[in-house]
Amino acid sequence: MPTYRCAYCEHQTESAHMITVFQGQQERNELLCDTCYADWLESLKSE
Ligand SMILES: [Zn+2]
Repeated sequence: MPTYRCAYCEHQTESAHMITVFQGQQERNELLCDTCYADWLESLKSE
């Protein structure tokens, strides 16, 4: 079974969520675990 490494907490996760982050002009894809993805969604709402 494939596992992914969360880009944020660096834990191994089997259900990864792809997000797109912007750094200046650069667009970058990262994989997050369930927990970090939920946190990331919350951080979007609060802005
Ligand atoms: Zn994580």
